[in-house]
Amino acid sequence: MSTYRTTQSAPTNAPGAADPVAHLHHACQQCGACCRWSGYVIVRRDEVDAIAAHLGVTPEQFANTYARLTSSRRNLSLIEQDDGSCVFLGADNRCRIHPVKPRQCRDFPARWTVPDLETACPAVKAAQGGGQPV
Ligand code: SF4
Ligand code: SF4
Repeated sequence: MSTYRTTQSAPTNAPGAADPVAHLHHACQQCGACCRWSGYVIVRRDEVDAIAAHLGVTPEQFANTYARLTSSRRNLSLIEQDDGSCVFLGADNRCRIHPVKPRQCRDFPARWTVPDLETACPAVKAAQGGGQPV
């Protein structure tokens, strides 16, 4: 499962615009798959402050401990754990910064456009009638 994190579509859908999954009421099954895909988890400047405050560290400490520059050197991205999962994915498959997680994460899956999203995300599959939400 490569580079899903970097193939997020820009959230440009106008209200009422066609969107294949935005209308679905998906129930996250907390499989953690989307937090294990390779690719960047972009953290915007205003999100740095919120995440740092949530963690009880300074923005500089957050950036030095939990983030790295993207290859363009224009954005920060969360680092990964040794197994490739996001640094904030807990052993229980829950996000440790859920209340302040980056927009890229909050927008998933409703505002992402990736191939075979129903295969990649069990919640989408269930919402589309291909499985049972838990
Ligand atoms: S892949 Fe889908 S079901 Fe699994 S954790 Fe992510 S949003 Fe939830
Ligand atoms: S910040 Fe949270 S939701 Fe986003 S990839 Fe990391 S663990 Fe997953």
